[in-house]
Amino acid sequence: MPETVIDQAAAAGLVRELQKSLSGDVLALGEPGYDEARAIWNAMVDKKPAVIARCATTEDVVSAVNAARNHGLQVSVRCGGHGVTGKALADGGLTIDLTRMRRVEVNAGDQLVRVQGGCLLGDIDAATAQHGLIVPAGIVSETGVGGLALGGGIGWFSRKHGLTCDNFKSLELVTAAGEVIRASETEHPDLFWALHGGGGNFGAVTEFEFEAHRFGPEMRIGVALHHPEDAAAALAEYAQIYPELSDRVGWHAALKQSMPGLPFVPEPLRGKRLLLMIVMYLDDAQSDDGIKLVERLIGVGKPAAKAVTVMPFGARVQKLLDPEFPNGNRYYTKEAHINALPEEALEILVSRWGEMKMSGEIEIIGLGGAMARVSPEATAFPNRHHNWWLNFALHWDKASEDVSNVAQIRAAHDALKPWLGSGIYANMLNFDEADRLVDAYGGQERYDRLARVKARYDQDNFFRSNNAAIAPIGGRSRVTN
Ligand SMILES: Cc1cc2nc3c(=O)[nH]c(=O)nc-3n(C[C@H](O)[C@H](O)[C@H](O)COP(=O)(O)OP(=O)(O)OC[C@H]3O[C@@H](n4cnc5c(N)ncnc54)[C@H](O)[C@@H]3O)c2cc1C
Repeated sequence: MPETVIDQAAAAGLVRELQKSLSGDVLALGEPGYDEARAIWNAMVDKKPAVIARCATTEDVVSAVNAARNHGLQVSVRCGGHGVTGKALADGGLTIDLTRMRRVEVNAGDQLVRVQGGCLLGDIDAATAQHGLIVPAGIVSETGVGGLALGGGIGWFSRKHGLTCDNFKSLELVTAAGEVIRASETEHPDLFWALHGGGGNFGAVTEFEFEAHRFGPEMRIGVALHHPEDAAAALAEYAQIYPELSDRVGWHAALKQSMPGLPFVPEPLRGKRLLLMIVMYLDDAQSDDGIKLVERLIGVGKPAAKAVTVMPFGARVQKLLDPEFPNGNRYYTKEAHINALPEEALEILVSRWGEMKMSGEIEIIGLGGAMARVSPEATAFPNRHHNWWLNFALHWDKASEDVSNVAQIRAAHDALKPWLGSGIYANMLNFDEADRLVDAYGGQERYDRLARVKARYDQDNFFRSNNAAIAPIGGRSRVTN
């Protein structure tokens, strides 16, 4: 069934219709503020929705869903706008923009946190830190909780408290029929299962309720910097030690194209190609165990510089990497799961890194711990058992470099194929990876189970603009733009 395309006059009529019922504001293509509202993280995406409904309440979202359905428009849901492929927007469609819905309510006694569907991770950190609590989430504070949590959510605390979605207590969402429902272990349990990793396929989530955990607020972190010629050896040691570590520590590595001027980076190393290794102690920052462990781990290999510091988690640690991934660059990411990092693979990785002329980094994100102990059947999120995620997170300015840079990243990924596990993080599925969709959900059986849940809640595939779109079994399969 073809999408309805509306002309500017019809879009203006729809805006007037929505303005009557919405407490938030509504923008049509070309209106003042429209271009700012459609700007998202990845400048590779240049989509123009017909209408952007900036919802302020759950009722607004219901009105927007009903309007899109009645006018036959493709709907998309936008939270932080950090989805790599820009599915938060749909060309000619209606964007349900949740950026006005950023309230966070903390019930410190019960360690429960209610988060509106448009919050950024930084909103949650700021509110929970006041109560000595954290909700485990990602590592860049400007990422939206909506896309991140519904796709899984991996971050510094995953080893101790699992994925972001592992900490769901309940979710309020607006379905394709415009109904407001709550999913939890006891209400719509099939949907609750699917929302743990199944992405935005099932409705617009207007509120997340999370279990929070006591922490800090101070965190002990250690960093080590290595010259390129020492990188493979340091990573080999890292790969050997990592699988034996306790859940109380997180340890990630990043092959940086150009080391930024972060406070712990000595002047002569700024701007240099370097391996950065970061250790996070996930327990009492002043404990002897933490002090010794962080010292030991930053000493692996032959660091050119190392430093240890204690800083507030929400206010500082979570924002450390923000300047590294600003909105508006041309980004291409490629993710893979990996269980072993033998020397041969590391030599290839380091040499490919040395050849790249782009900005950004190649990340080795340490997994394991609590996220790996959740039973594979308990949630829709698959592929919990790998030691690391390898992620090429690179960017550049000129559109003329898109083709050659993407090809170079793909070639580096291909060169490492013998060591890569199956699967991909659904939130990282890129433009050119439609063939990895079923893998992103852990194989055909799990994909089909998700597709059956999708058919129960969204038979017509209304919510189809997603990072990793699931077509309802028995429903209509429709192409997204
Ligand atoms: C700089 C950067 C850092 C990242 N760091 C991490 C990290 O540390 N850990 C990690 O796990 N991932 C990380 N990611 C990946 C991230 O999880 C995805 O990009 C995610 O889609 C971002 O969510 P968003 O709300 O910002 O995206 P948006 O672009 O706003 O939304 C993407 C999709 O999510 C769905 N969606 C969003 N909000 C809702 C909602 N309220 N209800 C229903 N559906 C919704 C929609 O389908 C939408 O198309 C990072 C990405 C970037 C760009």
